[in-house]
Amino acid sequence: MNKKLKKLDVYLAGPRGFCAGVERAILMVQEAIKKYGAPVYVRHEIVHNKYVVDNLKNEGAIFIEELSEINQLDRPVIFSAHGVPKSVPEEAKNLNLIYFDATCPLVSKIHREVEHFERQNLPVILIGHKNHPEVIGTMGQTNKDIYLVENKEEVKNLPILKDQQIAYVTQTTLSVDDTKDIIDEIKSHFVNTLEPKKKDICYATTNRQEAVKNIAKNSDYFLVLGSKNSSNSLRLVEVAKNYGSQNAILVDDIDNFDPTILNNSAKIGVTASASSPEILVTKIINKISQFFDLNIIEAEYEKEDIHFKIPQKLKEAI
Ligand code: SF4
Repeated sequence: MNKKLKKLDVYLAGPRGFCAGVERAILMVQEAIKKYGAPVYVRHEIVHNKYVVDNLKNEGAIFIEELSEINQLDRPVIFSAHGVPKSVPEEAKNLNLIYFDATCPLVSKIHREVEHFERQNLPVILIGHKNHPEVIGTMGQTNKDIYLVENKEEVKNLPILKDQQIAYVTQTTLSVDDTKDIIDEIKSHFVNTLEPKKKDICYATTNRQEAVKNIAKNSDYFLVLGSKNSSNSLRLVEVAKNYGSQNAILVDDIDNFDPTILNNSAKIGVTASASSPEILVTKIINKISQFFDLNIIEAEYEKEDIHFKIPQKLKEAI
């Protein structure tokens, strides 16, 4: 050990990294490439992580935003983990495409809730982020009234009468704390609110945020490994800041990460979002260890043992 290196405690948040929905979606692309050969089209980034997307491109995936971009109609296409509007599988059928849907089962659960509320003729409020693919997919489950709100101020401006019965659902990757405030506002503004049977913010989002909360107050710096377009990564940065780690940052590009920004720190927290692989944690630790004498502490908030099976349709194909 080099005695000149400054000591640095590194608290690794647990759980961190891939969730069950992300693991399944990546596996689906890899299995499809194995079965059909390259290229396999993927509609939208399969999960919001640059490292994952770049690796899958190298394995033979071609990422597109719309099915109209497919120029080899005999190649299979996979829909991303975020879910798609109902119009997308319909379009795939019309084009006679071989398609597989990697929508996370926990997002599909919300789609079924929207359908359920639609059957009851209830206006649905969706709490989420405008233009996020999951929100576009959820809004596209119904032709009836569905209203997006991004913050609690928007609730009272909705064109729905206060005494009308309404239902709400949420995006899966929101801040647990912020969403609670918006739900409280919905329940106080509308006299008759139907809630989803189970919480829509998923187990992986909740656990990763709780794990960050536990160590943020003791962390002089907090590094969140994830990509800029990843909702769950951005929420982890916000949570770290809100719970006491003012210097929380998103690290998307480890090659350009400068460990000397940690020079004034004694303790740091590190986590990886639900779409970021553990290899990125190893890489950043290796990089930081060239500048500091590290004391690594696994700070596990909860053990996870959740896995989702790949859809029967793909299983049969392979
Ligand atoms: S973050 Fe949650 S909803 Fe999204 S893919 Fe993972 S388990 Fe599914």
